[in-house]
Amino acid sequence: MLRFLSYDIVFQEVPGEVSLAINISNCPHRCKGCHSPHLQEDKGECLDRKALGTLLTSYGEALTCICFMGGDADPKSVESLALFVRESTQGRLKTAWYSGRAQFPHDCSPESFDYVKIGPYIEALGGLDAPTSNQRFYQVKEGRLVDRTELFHSKFSTNTYSPSLPNRSQEALRPALT
Ligand code: SF4
Repeated sequence: MLRFLSYDIVFQEVPGEVSLAINISNCPHRCKGCHSPHLQEDKGECLDRKALGTLLTSYGEALTCICFMGGDADPKSVESLALFVRESTQGRLKTAWYSGRAQFPHDCSPESFDYVKIGPYIEALGGLDAPTSNQRFYQVKEGRLVDRTELFHSKFSTNTYSPSLPNRSQEALRPALT
């Protein structure tokens, strides 16, 4: 079961989109220098179709994308929720997945998402916005992962926006660039 600790509306995580970033806990990775160690613990509210539906009802009109931050302990559930977003909004909302895995999971389909970020955080190489980063940001086009990491090295990388939202988080609201 997926759990989430917080959510926020952001511009930065998916360039060109207004995203609801949902911070999922129980991260199985143990990246040295992890900036969100609280996400390594298995805690928070259940993230299922009902909870996601509530968020879509509350904020869906203001969004263009749902961004799942983490969930690597249960990638099939992340994929299932991404498909739920697509179905329940008739494709109006795009979906993104920030994964700390080194590779896209073989038992999931890239076509289930519109954007995918892949790669653990390696302190010496830096995050997604560092030119030396091992992490890659892809746009999914016709089932293929097209590398768009360069978008994080442009003007988009400094754009963030956080309107007032009812705070349901148990931890800091700001999502992590995992
Ligand atoms: S993937 Fe992100 S949240 Fe998980 S350990 Fe690495 S830096 Fe921390």
